[in-house]
Amino acid sequence: MAALDESLRNALGGKAAARLDAAFGLETTGDLLRHYPRRYAQRGELTDLASLRDGDHVTVFAQVASVRSRRLRTRGRELLEVTVTDGRARLVLTFFNRTRYWERQLAPGRHGMFAGRVSTFKGQRQLAHPEFKLLGAGDADKAAELAAELIPVYPAASQASTWDIERCVRIVLDTLSGVDDPLPEPLRQRYRLIGLADALRGIHRPADHADIDRAQKRLKWDEAFVLQAALAQRRNAAAALPATPRPPRGGGLADAFDARLPFSLTAGQREVGKAIARELASGHPMHRLLQGEVGSGKTVIAVRAMLQVIDAGGQAALLAPTEVLAQQHERSISDLLGPLGQAGRLGAADTATRVALLTGSQGAAARREALLDAASGAAGVVIGTHALLTEHVQFADLGLVVIDEQHRFGVEQRDALREKARGARPHVLVMTATPIPRTVAMTVYGDLDTSTLTELPAGRSPIATHVVPALEKPHYLERTWERVREEVEKGRQAYVVCPRIGEDDISSPGGETDGSGEPGPADADAATGAADEDEGPRRPPLAVLDMAPALASGPLAGVRLRVLHGRLPSDEKDAAMRAFADGSADVLVSTTVVEVGVDVPNATVMVILDADRFGVSQLHQLRGRVGRGGEPGLCLLVTEAAGESKARDRLNAVAATLDGFQLARLDLEQRREGDVLGAAQAGRKKSLKLLSVLTDEELIGRARREATEFVAADPDLAGHPALASAIGSLLGDERAEYLEKA
Ligand code: ADP
Ligand code: MG
Repeated sequence: MAALDESLRNALGGKAAARLDAAFGLETTGDLLRHYPRRYAQRGELTDLASLRDGDHVTVFAQVASVRSRRLRTRGRELLEVTVTDGRARLVLTFFNRTRYWERQLAPGRHGMFAGRVSTFKGQRQLAHPEFKLLGAGDADKAAELAAELIPVYPAASQASTWDIERCVRIVLDTLSGVDDPLPEPLRQRYRLIGLADALRGIHRPADHADIDRAQKRLKWDEAFVLQAALAQRRNAAAALPATPRPPRGGGLADAFDARLPFSLTAGQREVGKAIARELASGHPMHRLLQGEVGSGKTVIAVRAMLQVIDAGGQAALLAPTEVLAQQHERSISDLLGPLGQAGRLGAADTATRVALLTGSQGAAARREALLDAASGAAGVVIGTHALLTEHVQFADLGLVVIDEQHRFGVEQRDALREKARGARPHVLVMTATPIPRTVAMTVYGDLDTSTLTELPAGRSPIATHVVPALEKPHYLERTWERVREEVEKGRQAYVVCPRIGEDDISSPGGETDGSGEPGPADADAATGAADEDEGPRRPPLAVLDMAPALASGPLAGVRLRVLHGRLPSDEKDAAMRAFADGSADVLVSTTVVEVGVDVPNATVMVILDADRFGVSQLHQLRGRVGRGGEPGLCLLVTEAAGESKARDRLNAVAATLDGFQLARLDLEQRREGDVLGAAQAGRKKSLKLLSVLTDEELIGRARREATEFVAADPDLAGHPALASAIGSLLGDERAEYLEKA
């Protein structure tokens, strides 16, 4: 048995093992050795006690200043109060019972580590019943301790203090043997990386900072290389699966569609289109991520791919994240197809197919017809939300799955859809308008091939964005509504977006979480979290159901308003969208349901209320709804956030650039990385501990190249069992969430 697989129960005994498991989910010696120190304390260094915050679980280094014991009135118990200091600030430690023994230990002048939860009692910072360890105490640890200049400080918990963990780590390190290195020898030489066992010793028991640097560099490579090797294997495995080839057929729907297009494709669209056409024709499933700004023309690419599959005898399914978007896709795809999509109707083309829409809340008759069309194959294109994935939906021959705005779909849902293709895997095209930074694409989406549309179709007008500080400059807000009226008088339209629906949804501040697949503000956590630091408690976010009547009877009186949000029945949603799309409504007051994909070229203004409650990328998505026709777009970010606040900085950043990649990066920097990497990363066992998708771009790129080559030369890693087993434990931990992105 390799040393890193040994159970902690064997290595440390049941009690210690149980504590480490309960506190951090650590089960093997390998798990423990990958519980890295959070930082290192210099010998003699004291913690800045003034920096402690109530409620935090902390480990402080301090010196005992004074000790005093007093008898409590209740039940004659004794209370020991020990005051410790960093030389300036003081902290009181309170202990009940066992006072005489502890009193002797905690003599003034002694240095120690004290761990516990910070609280304030009668204006005095304290740790009640802290765990502690005196430094230089005459026990067995003394020699090792004196030798170490740097004391590792571990992420600790009430069940396991940092010195508990340190002691366990030492026991494991002392008996560590037979560690197989997952990094191939030539790779280690090429990048001058130390061996795994040395790195583990170096990170836990460094003699100096150079030790730590060498160890961290090596261990980051571990994380990057093992992950990239896993992804490379995954790509290979997917590429080896059979899929029905869907080669282009001349003179079919696809050609007829191209001939009907009222514009010519951009160079980017043509190039991506070619790659997709080639992959659909191959006998292995396509697995492609297509990213491009809103309005960059992804939908047209998807439709061309669908038609190629239909020409080859198959069907295509399009999954949208919301009913509104599914409905809109159905409308715009039907429009694009014209007579090509009206099989069975008067005036349809001979070769025509049919577009079916399936949503959770449509009427029984419409639903039955759509189900029949999907099952018989009469519908070449089947569009829907997650309702498409219920077991009642059957396809005659599902050849292509297009997933729009992929981040809104769960893993299980994607798997379920794959199973609909019975036997052979369908080709999969994932589309996203949220730009994905390169490093994230290489890690989180590392098993997909990616294409990016970088240019917008010609004739797009720029969008001007301004921040409207509603509290500081109320006349700006008045001016905002005037601008909306002006546009409406010119025959144009406007969106007003609020973070919340209203009335009884106060319990769910995220807004649209109504179970119908509607998204809430995707970045709400990040956004409100960032804002809270600046402002503390605030009023609830503005709501559609409050704002619509207030605007109708106030600044927008006489303007034709419609309301749209996720709790409306689907026919009302559809009616509202239609009214706005055909111009019979001037202003749409809505939640973020308009975020993705909604396309009304005549809309020129977007007012976002409480804009600070949204994430940066989300604001960018929202403003992409305007400026889609010939007229320039205007986006007004209304906020009550103070001028000097992080929230305002974020809004200023959105106003300052139209570069979605730059904003995505900003978003990434402002979130915890765990949020970026998904749910599995938020769990207790994180596979990326040292590696940062923000700062280790170069390393990730190198590891990807190296791993791809390595796996190509030895697909099963038969010659390198240590790497195979490292991948095994990575996959064991994170199987579904982390790697199964599409
Ligand atoms: P996305 O899905 O990337 O947001 P769409 O495919 O919906 O973008 O395209 C947005 C609008 O631009 C649609 O009205 C579409 O018909 C139009 N469009 C797409 N490609 C082009 C092009 N090459 N030239 C002009 N207009 C285009
Ligand atoms: Mg779109």
